[in-house]
Amino acid sequence: VTQSLQSVRQKIEIPFQYTAGSAVTRFLEGLKDKKIVVGVCSNCGRRSVPPLSVCGRCWKPVTDFVPLSGRGKVISFSRANPTTIYGLIQLEGSDSSLVHYVAENPNLAIGCDVVPTWREERTASILDIHHFVLL
Ligand SMILES: [Zn+2]
Repeated sequence: VTQSLQSVRQKIEIPFQYTAGSAVTRFLEGLKDKKIVVGVCSNCGRRSVPPLSVCGRCWKPVTDFVPLSGRGKVISFSRANPTTIYGLIQLEGSDSSLVHYVAENPNLAIGCDVVPTWREERTASILDIHHFVLL
């Protein structure tokens, strides 16, 4: 006997909080000081932003953390609406890329050089970077 089942549509709110871990904590604390910190694997040299506690390539613990210049290149971007642009930023000195807001600019294109602008009041949050602007 087959029976079709009804569905119930509901919105469930699930607030949660998790620890950032030692590597991301270094990254967030760096942002408070207007520094973007990269994690460098001492085994294979892979450089990740945000840093990882364990290298995603060779699985060794990441123990070196160094600040970057902050300058990067737009490797992709998307306009979510007329005032919000998400960019994929390849920071100089990093092998990974970071998603963040990019300011509207008629010259915005893949390959553009960008730098971060910082909030006055920083709280060790990814949003301490207000957005990236074209150089
Ligand atoms: Zn590694």
